Amino acid sequence: DNFLSAGAIDTKAQALLRPNPKLEHALTNSAAKGLPPISVLPLAGQYLSILTKLIGAKTVLEIGTLGGYSSIRFAEAGAKVTSVEMNPKHHEVAVENVQGLDVEVILGSALEVLPKLAEEGRKFDLVFIDADWDHHWEYFDWAVKLTRPNGCVYLDDVIPPLFKSGKVEDEAASVFTKIGQDERVEATLVPLVVTHPLIPTPVFNGYVLARVKE
Ligand code: SAM
Repeated sequence: DNFLSAGAIDTKAQALLRPNPKLEHALTNSAAKGLPPISVLPLAGQYLSILTKLIGAKTVLEIGTLGGYSSIRFAEAGAKVTSVEMNPKHHEVAVENVQGLDVEVILGSALEVLPKLAEEGRKFDLVFIDADWDHHWEYFDWAVKLTRPNGCVYLDDVIPPLFKSGKVEDEAASVFTKIGQDERVEATLVPLVVTHPLIPTPVFNGYVLARVKE
């Protein structure tokens, strides 16, 4: 088996996953309602859950809810979740999917909602950025303002395998430069090899994990 074969990764990943009716329902309901299959992959969701527990996060801000799959992960890991989603259809399905959990899904565009949360003096233990590519730096900047000292910002999808346009590459590079010079944080890149049902071979991706300094 090639080291980079999808099977080699999937089998191992599968062995670590446990049945979770709430997550399975969220995926089935989201697909039935026509939402795109772009929630975090099961193993990444598992990672978010473990991270939440390890840092003892009690409050999580999420940018980009989709159908609430990752929101469920954070909530089941013990956090109160505030999630921002601009698409009314996604918002509606997410509200159905997170029923019974401590998740507030705010309908609105992140760049309008985040300044309001900051104005209210809200602070979160962990901020998860998983929305669109065009505003990564703006989201990151607001996320840092909205994170308590020693909390963390998780900026997902920073190595875009699916959209290799020059513009996106340039944008991605400039976000790294800005984060690298940002004295409010210390940050690292966690590169990933991921398999996805929509992609025939494993691809590189990654996320930035930043700790907000005290
Ligand atoms: N975090 C979700 C999960 O793992 O289940 C997946 C989120 S999906 C990759 C991205 C979502 O961000 C989409 O539902 C999209 O409508 C939303 N989105 C895109 N731009 C946004 C913005 N400016 N403000 C709020 N939501 C946005």
